[in-house]
Order: sequence, then structure tokens, then C-alpha cells
Amino acid sequence: MAVSAVTTAVGAALVAAVLATGQTTSSPGRRADPPRSVRLFVLDCGTLENMDAGRFELKQDEVATNRMSVPCFLVAHPKGTLLWDTGAVSDAAWKPTGAPVKHHLVLSESQQRDLTMIKPLNGQLSEAGYSPADITYLALSHYHWDHTANANEFARATWLVRQVERDAMFSQKPPDLTQPSAYAALRNSRTLVISRDEHDVFGDRTVVIKLAAGHTPGHQILYVKLARTGGVVLSGDLYHFPEERTLNRVPTFEFNPEQTRATRIAIDAFLKRLGAQLWIQHDFIATAKLKKAPAYYE
Ligand SMILES: [Zn+2]
Repeated sequence: MAVSAVTTAVGAALVAAVLATGQTTSSPGRRADPPRSVRLFVLDCGTLENMDAGRFELKQDEVATNRMSVPCFLVAHPKGTLLWDTGAVSDAAWKPTGAPVKHHLVLSESQQRDLTMIKPLNGQLSEAGYSPADITYLALSHYHWDHTANANEFARATWLVRQVERDAMFSQKPPDLTQPSAYAALRNSRTLVISRDEHDVFGDRTVVIKLAAGHTPGHQILYVKLARTGGVVLSGDLYHFPEERTLNRVPTFEFNPEQTRATRIAIDAFLKRLGAQLWIQHDFIATAKLKKAPAYYE
């Protein structure tokens, strides 16, 4: 009896603590109900500054800007949620001030990057009514550091990944431009290995992950069918600068540049067949025009 009472008291204290913690976040406090139709939230996961156009086979005077957006995306479906990409800087690595924060990163192979950060990923999810525990599926377009920074926070989700990509990520010597500590927790995540070209995430063709290999061996894109907006394809890094598409240039650091060229042709056909628009994730000018969470596309 006494033991039970103690347990209950401890349990009540824990519940109280959790509630108190929940109320101290920036969240409006309401947890989002599953929507009746698919919603796509665009999250600002930072801006890359002073990017070298030469790495993308472009001359400086061929690009409109050297800034690159780093968005993350949340898909809310009646049957669950999918987080697509997790940013370039982990929430734990910087402190939001309400104003843009400069962040300098030294990458493993002595390359450096400058970023501007405004809002943490978790805070944006919270404002939209979601916490990491509410994420059903995690998918990364690919393993590069600027897409994986907060991956460990979503290790409780089911990870949707290609075998070749996962094998590379956890190999003895992970590929260049990876940050293995940022995704180490995914090793033990419930994992759904996608073996087909296309994976229909919720079984109704509204959210489809499609192989788009070349940038990395298991690079993938995300198709989202929205009732009002229509079809949208999130590019991953099939392109970075939009001028890669208009001028037909391929980055210098592809896993397989010939495969990238073939994939781009296949994805153009895919876009045409579905009447979908392509959102180039790193396209700073286009991404700046998108509405950001807690607003959403539907
Ligand atoms: Zn990238």
C-alpha cells in the first residue's frame, strides 16, 4: 500500500513536471490534431552564406546570389507525420536571440561554412503544434551535413532510407561532407529500408519518396500532393543553385555525376507526368518567397 502510494506520488510529480515543462516552451500550447487533408510546413533551418559557385560548375556572374536556403519540411497527413531533412546546425549548437545569429562551422575535411540562423527547428515545430515525439517518419534527402544536423532528435521516428545510403553513413570511413555524430542515434531507430524506386509513405499516393541517385548513392526526393496547391516535389540536392538547372551544370562533388544527369532527366519526366512544381531546397530567392510554419500549404 505504502509503496503504491509513493509510486503514485512520484508519478503525479512527474506528470506535473512534464506539464510545467510543456508550458514553458514557446508553443501556443495546443498539440495539433491530425489534419483532414495533407499539409506541408516549410521550416527555416538557416541560410548558407558566401557559397562558392565554382563548386557547382558555375561562374560567379552566372548566379543571382551566393546565399543558399536550408529549409526543413514537415508533412502532416491524416495518418501521421513525416519530417524531411533536419538542417545544417543542431539546435543545441546555437542560441536564438530573436535576431539573425551568425554561425561559423568547420567541416571535417578543413572546409568552413558561414550560416545565418534565426529560429531553432524544435521551436518552429512547437509553434506548429508538434514535438519530436509526434513525428511518425523521418526521411533525409541524403547524408550531407547540411541535411542531418538535428537527426538524432528524431531517432524515435521510423527512419525511411535506402540501404546504400545507410551503409555509407555507418561505414568505417563515412563519405565526405557527412557529420556522423549528428545522426549516430539513427543506427538504432526503427528503420524502413526502401528497396523500390518509389515509396508511398501513407498508402494513398499523396506523399511519395522517390529515388534520385547521383548526388549521393541513395539520394531521394519527396513528392507531396496538396489539395489546393497541387503537386510539389522537394528537390533534396538534385540542384542547389537554380542556375544548375537552367544552364545544365552539375556540381563538382557528386557521388556519380553521370547518374545525376540521368536522374535529372527522369525527374523532369516525373514532374511533367504529375504536373508538379519543383521546389529547389537551396534556392534562396525561391525559398524566401515561401510561407513559413506555423503557416502551411494544403
Ligand atoms: Zn545540401
